[in-house]
Amino acid sequence: MKPQFHFLISAIISIVFFFLTKNIVASLICLSAGFLIDIDHILDYSIIYKKFSLKKAMKGEWYKDKVYILLHSWEILIIILIIFRLNIYTIAFAIGFVQHLIIDIFSYPTKNKPLAYFLTYRILTNFRGLCG
Ligand SMILES: [Zn+2]
Repeated sequence: MKPQFHFLISAIISIVFFFLTKNIVASLICLSAGFLIDIDHILDYSIIYKKFSLKKAMKGEWYKDKVYILLHSWEILIIILIIFRLNIYTIAFAIGFVQHLIIDIFSYPTKNKPLAYFLTYRILTNFRGLCG
């Protein structure tokens, strides 16, 4: 999904979160978690093509046989919740993070959808587990 769409959805959700909680920091965490995950596309593009291009990296239509999107991993959420426990900030992070991954899961024609967004699975498949 395009970053602009992720930003728009994340902004709407974080505004609703703010009206419900009146917590601006938690709302910004929700926005950031839902939007900044896509930063890993820059690393992914740079590893695959051995060059840097922010514009091409964020297009997301250039995937080859391997995908190194390290932040698009359910393990990140699990680790955050284990380290910081359940509080308004981790709930805000979880809402932003989960909506991003769910949108991506239903937007891309990836194979092994339930497993493909686990970093562990992608490592075990030599980063080929996401490619359809
Ligand atoms: Zn994404």
